[in-house]
Amino acid sequence: MEPTTRLVRAGLPEPPGKLRPGEPIHKGPVFASAFSAPGDPASSPYTYTRFNNPTWQELEHALGVLEGGTARIFPSGMAAVTAVFASLLRPGDTVVLPSDSYYTTRVIMQEFFAGFDIQTRLAPTASNAQAEVLEGAKLLWVETPANPGMDVCDIRLLSEAAHRHGALIAVDNTTPTALGQQPLALGADISVASDTKSLTGHSDLVLGHVAVKDPALDARIAGWRKLSGSIVGPMEAWLALRSLATLPLRLEKQSQNALAIAQFLETQPGVRGVRYPGLKTHPAHALAARQMRFFGPVVGFELPDRAAAERFLQASHLLVEASSFGGIVSSAERRARWGGDDVSEGFIRLSAGCEAIDDLLADLGQALQASQSA
Ligand SMILES: *Cc1c(COP(=O)(O)O)cnc(C)c1O
Repeated sequence: MEPTTRLVRAGLPEPPGKLRPGEPIHKGPVFASAFSAPGDPASSPYTYTRFNNPTWQELEHALGVLEGGTARIFPSGMAAVTAVFASLLRPGDTVVLPSDSYYTTRVIMQEFFAGFDIQTRLAPTASNAQAEVLEGAKLLWVETPANPGMDVCDIRLLSEAAHRHGALIAVDNTTPTALGQQPLALGADISVASDTKSLTGHSDLVLGHVAVKDPALDARIAGWRKLSGSIVGPMEAWLALRSLATLPLRLEKQSQNALAIAQFLETQPGVRGVRYPGLKTHPAHALAARQMRFFGPVVGFELPDRAAAERFLQASHLLVEASSFGGIVSSAERRARWGGDDVSEGFIRLSAGCEAIDDLLADLGQALQASQSA
């Protein structure tokens, strides 16, 4: 079966299995901290929800199918990132991070893990520059497309390079989701994502997951979760399971809208540096087309300065000014307002939603015009 069919049917009995008469098509969340577990705890599938929960298991099963591995859910993308760092890195280890990664990934490494004598090396995503600094590294962390600059690197090439140096490779796959790009199939050891973004896609959940193929690696990730208590409530897991069924519909529509928006922006006076992996003008478009099934919702572009960017956001009627991305509602923000990213004052990160494209283009057109009249 196609992964999309299995996503739509997540939580249902595997064909040719049938629901029992009167059984609800979708079960609700299982709200339990403790389960009946007499005698030897190993004989009960569930004992205590910090260890395991039936609603998590359904979501993890669906995510595992999507990733082509074993998935473990975490209460945020950063909890998933932290689970990888904490379960794999030991004093004296070196980690190679992208200099243009999601900002907080670099901050937690530098402000927290550095205190445990873990060294960080930085290199840009573009041109697979991280491959040049792998000597003696324990872990290579890549993010492609990188956020917010939308540079792309070659997961297969970097996986081979990491393994040649005896390092593990983890991919932050948040922007495309595992439906848009499959790091494990491309040779990576670990696929990590913030499911707060496109995967759940309704701007109402904070969630993350880690997926791996190697059972020993999975045991370390699962062990970290069980001991640290970095767990998801059943309600969140269930909402994510509901959202997952529509991921193929949402991601396809968002990717179509994002490409049309990127192409439109390239024709507009006053707009520079349009960045979208689906554009032929993207420096790594051929690579992106090879390794991604969907290019995802995020488009970057530059307006002349901070004031023009602010006027643009103010004048748009459809773009919600918000910092997340991947929701069904289109959003955008002037990224430099946060600091930390190497972007110009007029740089906008836009996330295409599922609205009709004609409405989006008309709105962008009028907002760009308004941004030009100081
Ligand atoms: C948002 C994001 C994260 C962090 O996820 P949270 O769910 O906010 O903790 C990590 N990586 C990338 C690329 C992100 O966009």
